[in-house]
Amino acid sequence: MSFAPFAFDNTYARELEGFYVPWKGAEVPAPRMIRFNRELAADLGLDADALDTEAGAAIFAGHVAPEGASPLAMAYAGHQFGGFSPQLGDGRALLLGEVIDTRGERRDIHLKGSGRTPFSRGGDGKAVLGPVLREYIIGEAMHALGVATTRALAAVATGERILRQDGPAPGAVLARVAASHLRVGTFQYFAARGETGRLRQLADYAIARHYPELAGQPDRYLGLLRAVRDRQAALIAAWMHLGFVHGVMNTDNMTISGETIDYGPCAFIDTYDPAAVFSSIDAQGRYAYGNQPKIAQWNLARLAETLLDLINPDDSEDAVRQASEAINGFPLVYERTWLAGLRLKLGLDGAEEGDRELSEALLAVMENGQADFTRVFRSLSSAASGDMSKTRALFDDPSQIDAWLEGYRARLARDPGSAEDRAAAMNRANPVYIPRNHMVEAALQSAAGGDLAPFERLVGVLADPFTERAGLEVYALGAPTGFGPYTTFCGT
Ligand code: AMP
Ligand code: MG
Repeated sequence: MSFAPFAFDNTYARELEGFYVPWKGAEVPAPRMIRFNRELAADLGLDADALDTEAGAAIFAGHVAPEGASPLAMAYAGHQFGGFSPQLGDGRALLLGEVIDTRGERRDIHLKGSGRTPFSRGGDGKAVLGPVLREYIIGEAMHALGVATTRALAAVATGERILRQDGPAPGAVLARVAASHLRVGTFQYFAARGETGRLRQLADYAIARHYPELAGQPDRYLGLLRAVRDRQAALIAAWMHLGFVHGVMNTDNMTISGETIDYGPCAFIDTYDPAAVFSSIDAQGRYAYGNQPKIAQWNLARLAETLLDLINPDDSEDAVRQASEAINGFPLVYERTWLAGLRLKLGLDGAEEGDRELSEALLAVMENGQADFTRVFRSLSSAASGDMSKTRALFDDPSQIDAWLEGYRARLARDPGSAEDRAAAMNRANPVYIPRNHMVEAALQSAAGGDLAPFERLVGVLADPFTERAGLEVYALGAPTGFGPYTTFCGT
C-alpha cells in the first residue's frame, strides 16, 4: 500500500540539477512524533490525521521517503563570523520536496537532523531534542508575532542517543517549512567557483519563485538585489522591534525570501541593551542586538558581489557602481521601516519630525534604567490612555521615565485618532508574551526529563502573543533575578 500524503512538485530538484546532491535520510531506531503542527499542516493542505502518526514520524525523521519526494542536500557556501567557507551545504539536512499551500504559495518541506550527507564534513549529521524544540518554540512564536519566518511542522524523536558536549542527548529531527531554502550562501557557492551560467540560472529561479514581478526584465538582477535588500531591511526592523537577537547571522543563514532562518543561539532581550549577545561562540559581539542592521547590510554586500557579472557582464565598473548604490541604500530603507514600526509601537498615527528622537530617547531611558524592553512597550498603551503607573513601575527609579512620558503625552495630544483605537492598535504591535529565555529553558529542561507539558503550554501561550490572558501572568514577566546572564549554544 502506498502512502502519498504530499502532492509534491519539486522545482528545485527538477530545474537546478548540479545545485545539490540527491540523498536519503538515515534510518533511525524508533521514530516517534513529539509534536505535530496541525494548524500549519492545514495551511499546507496536508492531511493531519494521516501525518500525526507513526508513519508520519518515520517520514519526518528522514527514515522513510514519502511518495513523490526527491530528497536532496543543497550546496551552499557562506561567510561564518566574517570568514568565507566555499563549501558548507546541508550537512545535516535535506530538502524533502515542495508543496503548494492553500494560498497557492510554494513551500519547502525540509528536514533538519536527518543524518550525514556529502556536506557533513566532521559533523554527525544529527540534531538533538533540546535545539529542535527550541527552534520549534521560537520559530512558531516569531510567526505569531508577525515576523517572516520558516515554520516548524513537526518535531520527532529518533530513538537514538547522540553524543554532544554535555554527554549523550536524545536524537531528534525538525521538519521545517520555508518559502525556500535559497540563501545568500547559495549564490556565494557558485560565484566562488566562477560558474556564471549557474549563477544566472539560480538568480532566475530565485526571481521566478520570490520576485516574479522582475521576471524577464532587462535589469532584473539589480532588481533582485534591491528586492532582497528591502525584504531583509523589513525583517531586521521587525527583529529590532521585538528585541530578537538571531545570534548567527552568517551569510548561509540569510534567506533570499526574507524569512528568518536557523534558530540556533537566538534569544530575546529582557532589559534593553544594544550590546546584548547570547551566543557562546560570539565572543566579539559581531551579532549583538544593535549590530544586526549593519551585519545585514554587510551580508547583502556579499550577495551583491555574486551578482556583478549578471548586473553588467560587459562593464565591471558599472556593475560595481550599480550594486554599491543598491547596498548603500540599505540604511535609508531600514531606517524608514524601523521608524514606521516604532510609530505603530508608540501609537502615533501621524508623522512628525521629532518622532525619531522621541523613539531613540525612549530606548536611551530604558537602557539607563535597565528596564524590560517588551514590558515597557506593552505598558505604553496604558500610558497613552493616561495611566503612567505601569510604565513607571518598570524602572528601578520611576522618575527616570517621567520626562520622557511628558514629551510622549504632549506628542500624542497633537496626534489624530481616538485614545481607544490607539490603545487597541498599540496592543497589536506590542506583544505581552515573547519566548522569554528562562521560560524556554524551563520547557526544554522538562522535555529532556520526559515531561513535554511545559513545552506544550509555552507553545500554546506564544501562539497568541498580543492577547493578555488571565492566569498567564508568569509568561509575561522578565527573567527572575536568579536567572543570571543567559548563554545560548549552536544547535548542533
Ligand atoms: P548552522 O550553524 O546550523 O547554520 O550550520 C552551519 C553549517 O554546519 C551547515 O553547513 C550545516 O549543515 C553544518 N552542520 C551543523 N551541524 C552539523 C552536524 N551535526 N553535522 C553535520 N553538519 C552540520
Ligand atoms: Mg545554517
